[in-house]
Amino acid sequence: MVLGTYKEAIAARSTEKKIQDVSQDGGIVSSLFIHALEEKIIEGAVVAGNSDEKWKPEPVVAMTPEEIIEAAGTKYTMSPNVFAIKEAARQCGVEKLGTVATPCQVLGIRKMQTYPFSTRFISDKLKLVLGIFCMENFPIASLDTFADAKLDSSLGKTNKMDIGKGKFWIETDDGTKGVPLKETHGYEQAGCNICTDYVAEYADISTGSVGAPDGWSAVLLRTDDGDSLFKSAVDEGLIETKPITEVKPGLELLEKLAKGKKDKAKEEINNRVSLGLAVPNIY
Ligand SMILES: Cc1cc2nc3c(=O)[nH]c(=O)nc-3n(C[C@H](O)[C@H](O)[C@H](O)COP(=O)(O)OP(=O)(O)OC[C@H]3O[C@@H](n4cnc5c(N)ncnc54)[C@H](O)[C@@H]3O)c2cc1C
Ligand code: SF4
Repeated sequence: MVLGTYKEAIAARSTEKKIQDVSQDGGIVSSLFIHALEEKIIEGAVVAGNSDEKWKPEPVVAMTPEEIIEAAGTKYTMSPNVFAIKEAARQCGVEKLGTVATPCQVLGIRKMQTYPFSTRFISDKLKLVLGIFCMENFPIASLDTFADAKLDSSLGKTNKMDIGKGKFWIETDDGTKGVPLKETHGYEQAGCNICTDYVAEYADISTGSVGAPDGWSAVLLRTDDGDSLFKSAVDEGLIETKPITEVKPGLELLEKLAKGKKDKAKEEINNRVSLGLAVPNIY
């Protein structure tokens, strides 16, 4: 299955204005973490917080709804959230942890849980893994180049970044400008070119914008824990849903992009093999 194993696919968004105002898409990640905190399913969540450098994320352990909301929105560069999980478990003494992670990070987490060599004290504490869809990621210097050299603006002035409709967008007080993705491909992290997972296939719940209308999210409920958390947030009125079959562009687009990513990565893996380079063993 090109989207991995899931129980249900749904279009959804937060019903809360304070989350809608700051979230990247439907605010599903922030809503679910806040609900999980309130239900005591987790005591804290590792999220991509803000650092001294605008748009360069710093993983933080959010212990309150306010801290979850402060870290909402997408930073299109690496946030080493997996590293912070260790710190949260070891130094902050958090017993029940959640985290948000890109597909590659989710894979790392599941490997750590499957083979917990010297990490059992960490992996046992992870109760909720929310995966976000991810086609590519950029070093912070690349984001600077898009804003400055390509869009005649700056990261300092940027209020929001987004990828959609074939462009990388930055939103400032002066308006929204986009650079075509064919001009940004060369700036991606090299590892992203051999990444086969678009939809965080091993998360409890995966979510992203693709497949859902603007302001909404596509959500894939994968595990029993993920399914019951999401449904209890819906029952509490924190999240509203629509059948994915009734929204445009729908699951077909998500499947098409997920398959495209796998095919392109496999081609690049074969290229690298033919050059004698080391590649991940994905087959
Ligand atoms: C590099 C990257 C590429 C992406 N590409 C796509 C794509 O191609 N298609 C698609 O549909 N969606 C993509 N997404 C996901 C999308 O941008 C949203 O993050 C997702 O829809 C969740 O939105 P939300 O409104 O539910 O989350 P919100 O409620 O806004 O919360 C977002 C959460 O993600 C965390 N976060 C922010 N940046 C990062 C990061 N770099 N690494 C880990 N956690 C982070 C925040 O701290 C916050 O907890 C991408 C995300 C990233 C980080
Ligand atoms: S494209 Fe793959 S390797 Fe790159 S950040 Fe996204 S999930 Fe990780």
